[in-house]
Amino acid sequence: MTTIKATCPTCGEVDLTAEDIELRISSTEAGSEYGFECPMCVSLVWKPADARIIQLLISGGVKASVRDEELRRSDAPAFTYDDLLDFHFALESGSILENFLNPA
Ligand SMILES: [Zn+2]
Repeated sequence: MTTIKATCPTCGEVDLTAEDIELRISSTEAGSEYGFECPMCVSLVWKPADARIIQLLISGGVKASVRDEELRRSDAPAFTYDDLLDFHFALESGSILENFLNPA
């Protein structure tokens, strides 16, 4: 399992695994952050995550989520089960992938 090094403001560098880290992506880069519970002092640490850190964490297996407030703010309709079915049928028909792979 990949060990991810993070820094606790109290304990300094600590070793974490992907499961220990929560990554929250915001549509504005400055709003993205990652958090973990320090294995040494058990305090919750939140830090800003820039694009490089986000990429690093995701490649290390950290699951990313969209910040709650972003979801609430969104004007776009929610992705429903019907949308999923439409997507499934579109893929099954083959034309979407063909068009994607062999653009006219
Ligand atoms: Zn600590």
